[in-house]
Amino acid sequence: MDSQYDKTIAFWKKDIQFLKGVGKQRAQVLKEHGIKTFEDLIEYYPRKFINYNATTSLAMIDPQSKEPVICKGTILKYQRIKNRRGGYRLQAVFRDPYKRAILVWFQGLEWIEERLKSCEGKEVLIRGKPKLYRNYIQFAHPELFPIHPIQNNASPKKIVPIYSTSEKLKRVGLDSRGIKKLIDNLLAVAEPYIIDPLPQGYQQKLQLIDKRTAYKIIHDPDERLEEAKRRLKFDEAFLLMLILQRRKYLLKRYNRSYPMPKDGVYTRTFLNELLPFELTQAQKRVLKEIKQDIAQEIQMNRLLQGDVGSGKTIVALITMLRAIDNGFQAALMAPTEVLAEQHFRTIVNLTAKMNLQVELLTGHLKPSTKERIYYDLRSGRTQLVIGTHALIEDKVDFKRLGLAVIDEQHKFGVRQRAKLSIRGERQPHNLLMTATPIPRTLNMVLYGDLDVSILDELPPGRKPVKTKAVPYSKYPKVLQWLKDMIENKGYQAYIVYPLVDESEKLPLEDVKNGFEFIKKTFPGIPVGMIHGKMKSQWKDYEMQRFKRGETKILVATTVIEVGVDVPDANILIVHNAQRFGLSQLHQLRGRVGRGHTKAYAILLYDEQISREAKHRLKVLESTNNGFEIAQADLRLRGPGELLGTKQSGLPDFKIIDFIADTDIFTLARQVAEQMIREDPYFEQNPLLKAYLEYYVERYQLHHLVP
Ligand code: ADP
Ligand code: MG
Repeated sequence: MDSQYDKTIAFWKKDIQFLKGVGKQRAQVLKEHGIKTFEDLIEYYPRKFINYNATTSLAMIDPQSKEPVICKGTILKYQRIKNRRGGYRLQAVFRDPYKRAILVWFQGLEWIEERLKSCEGKEVLIRGKPKLYRNYIQFAHPELFPIHPIQNNASPKKIVPIYSTSEKLKRVGLDSRGIKKLIDNLLAVAEPYIIDPLPQGYQQKLQLIDKRTAYKIIHDPDERLEEAKRRLKFDEAFLLMLILQRRKYLLKRYNRSYPMPKDGVYTRTFLNELLPFELTQAQKRVLKEIKQDIAQEIQMNRLLQGDVGSGKTIVALITMLRAIDNGFQAALMAPTEVLAEQHFRTIVNLTAKMNLQVELLTGHLKPSTKERIYYDLRSGRTQLVIGTHALIEDKVDFKRLGLAVIDEQHKFGVRQRAKLSIRGERQPHNLLMTATPIPRTLNMVLYGDLDVSILDELPPGRKPVKTKAVPYSKYPKVLQWLKDMIENKGYQAYIVYPLVDESEKLPLEDVKNGFEFIKKTFPGIPVGMIHGKMKSQWKDYEMQRFKRGETKILVATTVIEVGVDVPDANILIVHNAQRFGLSQLHQLRGRVGRGHTKAYAILLYDEQISREAKHRLKVLESTNNGFEIAQADLRLRGPGELLGTKQSGLPDFKIIDFIADTDIFTLARQVAEQMIREDPYFEQNPLLKAYLEYYVERYQLHHLVP
């Protein structure tokens, strides 16, 4: 673009140190808080807004409503009061023209006392959720804002932005108001440099305000605040959606694969004679979607999502058979050896009556075996190969790989996913499978460049796993119950210990001790053990013994987390359940409840854990629906952790909310899709093109640009 554009970029990239009012010392602290450039500062949006107009009088309060309110009034007095259990609480009397209310704090008393001291007798605003307590309106831990004289003068500020700050920032004079001053300084010089990437026509059609106004109002709010937020949120979603939609478009346009239009003897024999059950409606629908995809020359990039146990493996197998019928090889990659072994056995069993060349390739095979498998893949003798990461080593070479299936794809990095796919000038069709159903918004962000199929139906006869969070004090009771279930009702159980990182020493000891303990406690019951540090043939041996029912209890680490399918195992006991994420626990729980008997999951937790941690475990007690669990996980942990923004190479999301703003994400995607369809190379729109290039650079999104 022209030099004006370059100047603009240069302005936004400027070191924060050079903004009026910053200087060296403040710059250093700001940088520690992630504010390095002018651009970072203008996007340092307020944490919240206080609307001085929207105050409620105490007389109008509805204590049942559970909504936070803002009240304007005076602090009459305050005091510390001794609690019955020892310790203190801090109580203040607050009054407005109509009524009195009690404010109470149980924590952080010293700090609040300081604030109350400076507020006593003066007008303040409080914000919190009112409750009725002994005929008084009470606010527990309300926020407290002194009404500053400046804001009380002739033309009061109606909505005041509050910026998050820290002790460190405050020490260099950057409390919320200090930060606001810097932003004012920036806005005073920034005007000519604010570019609006959204073409005028779209702005009008979508009824969005322009970017310049949006920036101004978010930091200097007036009654258009909601519109400003909406615009800025839209941009966050829109730019990424544009990148993803363009990627999807270009992949479809340029990535050629092999058309597989026909069913042949393998598919037909399997469907008509070997399939041990009736497919669910969802499986049939998804198979149809896939069939249409792979019949084309355009490369399929499809994500198959389905809750644990929804039957993804069989969908993969039927698709692979179709590829083989069309004269191609198919590969299935799984994230763990245990899972690869299991898939291998399942598939060999299901296809035993056909003349099909199936191989298993994992890292622990003897070199000579590996060499033979490599040879058979190269010569085309092997039709179907199942394996771990070993499949993407450079030495592996296929004669005619037509389909790559990646199971539990969320366990692989983006790059590993790509590697199985990129082979020669034509690329295999890709089917990615994942058991983690995730909220729509995350889906759009993570997989916006893929087509998605959803298995939203479980095979018939599944019963929800009865789940109970149990403190360790009740472990002896659990063990008694377990013994009874095994000896008298023929159940089989997994006992799982958290072993987050396979290199951790301590938890591995836990598993071994747990194993010894269980053996000692139940001398009459055969017990097995499995963990990631074991040699693969031992892992396989232990899995098979358990599957055949020769062992009744399998003490395990999370190597069994994904995919493992032993229908008779119907009890899961998880140690230190509080250490797992919600989705991970849901995955683990998916190991049981696959057969016809009632299944149980016992989540053992440490009594010391926080209320929040207990709450998480309660979520699992309350639902078996993976989608709801993912939603709760998102609410509890926030998108940052779920997306792993830093590692996953996604932009920072500063204002959009992954739960509340689903509609904005959806709109942004529609708009992006339409725009790319109409003008994929931004020929009508060089400014947007340049802006996107800068955006890719800024967030290092090169991997999303084909
Ligand atoms: P996931 O989607 O978690 O990978 P699996 O493919 O392991 O699920 O399937 C779980 C279990 O359900 C397996 O034992 C499988 O044989 C069985 N299954 C799959 N589809 C059906 C069906 N349509 N009817 C009955 N059982 C099925
Ligand atoms: Mg699976």
